[in-house]
Amino acid sequence: MARITRPPVPHFIDAEDRSLAGSALYVDLIPTTCWGSAGRTVLASQYEWQRIRTMVYERAGNACEVCGNTREDLEQLGYAPRLHAHERYTYLSVGESRVQRLTRLICQCLACDEVTHIGRTSTLGPHYLDRARTQAMRVNGWTRNELDAHMTEARRLWEERSQWEWKLDVTLLKNAGGRLLPGQRDREVIWD
Ligand SMILES: [Zn+2]
Repeated sequence: MARITRPPVPHFIDAEDRSLAGSALYVDLIPTTCWGSAGRTVLASQYEWQRIRTMVYERAGNACEVCGNTREDLEQLGYAPRLHAHERYTYLSVGESRVQRLTRLICQCLACDEVTHIGRTSTLGPHYLDRARTQAMRVNGWTRNELDAHMTEARRLWEERSQWEWKLDVTLLKNAGGRLLPGQRDREVIWD
């Protein structure tokens, strides 16, 4: 069956804050109460996410917006040559509710993505954890103590946020031309 193609996703997405956290590299742990339902999982198909992330890579010139690595750089450094469209969220209190709002999509190389998701990285083994630590210290100019302090604070924030139920605001993906997967979800999705 022929796929219906749609126009490319524009580089400017209404309501996206591309300045959110600048080009900082930091550990960004997803609260346990949000696991299993990232923004991309509410999209109608893989194709929807593919369209959006292709735009994220293109507008960044196919280089990491944090450290500048290209796929070729990654390969030379011994990584798989992969870029990621990382979802940066803000966590808000709105009236009685707590809202996890997708606020920015950022092109990150695999080396930086391993830092952002260091909890998951650590499950891959000590080699992966070590190289994530090295990347965080190199990019941020941190000492080992500064990295440890950052990781302690990231964990504290994660524990605090994991105590709450969060609605998922993915209006950004709608504004990027995405389509919502119909059906039941385990938490409320804001899509307008
Ligand atoms: Zn990077």
